[in-house]
Amino acid sequence: MNNDISRRISHELNIGGVKIGGSNPIAIQSMTNTRTDDVKATIEQINRLAKAGCDIIRCAVPDFKAAEAIKEIKKGISLPLVADIHFDYKLAIAAIKNGADKIRINPGNIGGEEKVRAVVEEAIKHDIPIRVGVNSGSLEKKYLEKYGKVTPEALVESAMGQVRILEKMDFHNIVISIKASDVMTSVKAHELISGMTDHPLHVGITETGSLIGGNIKSAVGIGIIIHEGIGDTIRVSLTADPIEEVRSAKHILRSLGLINSGIEVVSCPTCGRTRIDLIGLEAKVEELAKEYEDLDIKIAVMGCAVNGPGEAREADIGIAGGIGEGLIFSHGNVIKKVPEEGLLLALKEQLDALKNM
Ligand code: SF4
Repeated sequence: MNNDISRRISHELNIGGVKIGGSNPIAIQSMTNTRTDDVKATIEQINRLAKAGCDIIRCAVPDFKAAEAIKEIKKGISLPLVADIHFDYKLAIAAIKNGADKIRINPGNIGGEEKVRAVVEEAIKHDIPIRVGVNSGSLEKKYLEKYGKVTPEALVESAMGQVRILEKMDFHNIVISIKASDVMTSVKAHELISGMTDHPLHVGITETGSLIGGNIKSAVGIGIIIHEGIGDTIRVSLTADPIEEVRSAKHILRSLGLINSGIEVVSCPTCGRTRIDLIGLEAKVEELAKEYEDLDIKIAVMGCAVNGPGEAREADIGIAGGIGEGLIFSHGNVIKKVPEEGLLLALKEQLDALKNM
């Protein structure tokens, strides 16, 4: 792969068959937004996410119906499932007993040592990791008072406090996450914590917002952190269909040269030579590409036949617009001329042919 990233070597651990840390690839996570107790809808969403490239899925477990549902959900999915628990240690235990492959809980807020110990014992019995950590919105009052506001140091001190509670119980199967909504606070916090522990780090920027704003903040934040060699799993948090989170995560990792699989659509910015509705065509190609997410190829959508095929020489398959007609090309070589209205269909035929190879 074409990257110069020297990764921080973290402790390797296993989340339901997906190994993270060590020299394992950075895993992509997302979170369902179905009701977890709606087993059918949750399974459907998880399987769509898996197809899009998600490696690990997290589900909210707000009550015992959701904890119970894990048992059925697990029968219909292949991804490791992380149960997201707030405050109630009994829910954590129920989630583990029902097959959760990892739980996310903060030992500092579940009500005392005995309750934490009960969760830890269950995690040991089932050999599953616990993710602990903090995000800027839920930073404990004592750290806000000590530092005056959310700072990288405050986030790290809080997260390490959670870690120490588990380590004191001789539990080391730990993933840490520290998320801030401010990009550079997040970056600094990861830089600080990366030298303090070898537990794997789950990286993300929290409360980023909508598709455009959220993607930009996540790409900058996660991009910097991963480029510094820090991070073992990532999640792009978006107020959008979780499928978009997975697609964005893949874009980030691909941009850093950390993955070279999956379908990628590239397109030219258009210019005065463009004679077709390239913006509309590109949107249609993006939609079409979603049906071929398991192909490992690059598709190019270019505005003109004069420069398009040459500029997109790296593309496995491309279309270039002309006046009333366009070209289908592969690695810069023209395959055929097609009337403009037939370009999309011709591209689909090429993709079908690649899929059936
Ligand atoms: Fe302009 Fe053609 Fe290049 Fe697109 S491919 S930017 S239309 S020259």
